[in-house]
Amino acid sequence: MSSLYKEITLPNGVKYSQPVGLFINNEWKSSSKTFETLNPSTEESIASVYEASAEDVDLAVSAAKQAMKTWKDVPGEEKARKILKLAELLESKLDLFAAVEAMDSGKPLETNSKPDIQSVASYLIYCAGFSDKLHGKVIPIDKDRYAITKRYPLVVGQIIPWNYPLSMASWKFCPALACGCTIVIKSSELTPLSLLLFADLVKEAGFPPGVFNVISGFGAVAGNRIAEHPDLDKVAFTGSTVTGQKVMKAAAGNLKHVSLECGGKSPLLVFDDADLDQAAKWAAFGVMYNSGQNCTANSRILVQDNVYDKFLQLFTAELKKSWIVGDPFGKKTTLGPVISKGQYDKIRNYIKKGKEEGAVLILGEDDEQLKSLPKKGFFIPPTVFKDCQQKMTIVQEEIFGPVVAVSKFSADSEAIEKANDSIYGLAAMVFSQNFGRIQSVADKLEAGSIYLNSSNDEDLRVPFGGFKMSGIGKELGEAVIELYTETKSFYMNVSHKL
Ligand code: NAD
Repeated sequence: MSSLYKEITLPNGVKYSQPVGLFINNEWKSSSKTFETLNPSTEESIASVYEASAEDVDLAVSAAKQAMKTWKDVPGEEKARKILKLAELLESKLDLFAAVEAMDSGKPLETNSKPDIQSVASYLIYCAGFSDKLHGKVIPIDKDRYAITKRYPLVVGQIIPWNYPLSMASWKFCPALACGCTIVIKSSELTPLSLLLFADLVKEAGFPPGVFNVISGFGAVAGNRIAEHPDLDKVAFTGSTVTGQKVMKAAAGNLKHVSLECGGKSPLLVFDDADLDQAAKWAAFGVMYNSGQNCTANSRILVQDNVYDKFLQLFTAELKKSWIVGDPFGKKTTLGPVISKGQYDKIRNYIKKGKEEGAVLILGEDDEQLKSLPKKGFFIPPTVFKDCQQKMTIVQEEIFGPVVAVSKFSADSEAIEKANDSIYGLAAMVFSQNFGRIQSVADKLEAGSIYLNSSNDEDLRVPFGGFKMSGIGKELGEAVIELYTETKSFYMNVSHKL
């Protein structure tokens, strides 16, 4: 086995070969530098992977540009067959991919990693259907003239975060492949392994060289080069709002298409006529799943004053019962570690700040679960602050951890005002059994996805994307075709006359 693969034994004892190079033109190549990826449960190094320089990005872009010359003429049906083959290959290795992500990102194997990988296969299947249905429109102008529009694929750069390594990547590469784009995709420097492993499947599924290029590397170098690259028609980014702003600035130099999926601070509203048992369960799921490292996490909860105490009691009981911190490979674990030392320190700082600013900690650091936590690893137990005020840092800023800020409201109008008092607008959740009330409140909430009597149960067929500083453009559903095609208009003069 060459040094472009490393033999790894997973925590469950399974051995596999992990590619560690840069995947360009369907070949693995080395680069001049490497970096380590760590297991967040043990803080130990798993592997060194090759790091892309700006010049390596140029090579990958050149491969993608060259591949477009012939790939654009391949019929949609043939593209669809390759995408379906990719889904089949991934499903046949679901357990391996899930275990790799559990090791590299700390996701609980059964409750997070497996559903994540399954969702990638499902999204490949969903998007394959678009490949031969990329229609334009016919627009009648007058009796002798009409126009038609046609869609054209793009050479795209895609930049991915660490919280759903392969799944967030799939939100970008599935529609891009279906639309006939060629791709240079960069994983997060914290979780490079599953996307590298996936690249071998791309080749096996029969995609020609240069259609799908995968690089590992850091944002300031490789990410920035993707964002500014003159030969990429588009950059699609998922990550923090601050980085999204940098990506947009870098892309402005070449006026390339930009889509951004950024941060959030999503409010969950509990009205006094809600089913409180169910609201507590959804609220716990919506903020603890994936250790709270979820762009749509309901990290703010607003509860009507007359059910405030009752809700808090149900909510904390649910957290204690269902959100079990531990080893991602453990059978009972539902809450793994957070991704890194940096993220761990950042979350701990927010907890400190919450206490300093006067929020009341009712579950968290003194919780029983802490005693049974491993000595190593970036573990944080479910943490709840009550009696939070709008101006507090933990109410305004995205924490991206298993920490939630609960506040009170009296009137519906106050709930709406507090919910909208945020720079973000990714998601919002409303709990009430009065449909009229729900509709009237939900219409006024400034967010791209509104969950009525649920939280974070999004579906791949439904458009997803933020308002305000949560992003630009809609992924998923049919809406995503707009992100990966450019439309050309043809004016047809049937009479030839002026
Ligand atoms: P991040 O912004 O730190 O990094 C995201 C990616 O951008 C990484 O691949 C990184 O290498 C790259 N990057 C960093 N600096 C760059 C630069 N100057 N130019 C180009 N690329 C650069 O985000 P993260 O910590 O990986 O992810 C967490 C964030 O992602 C949270 O804010 C979360 O809300 C957001 N997120 C949003 C969605 C969504 O759909 N809206 C989904 C998942 C995560």
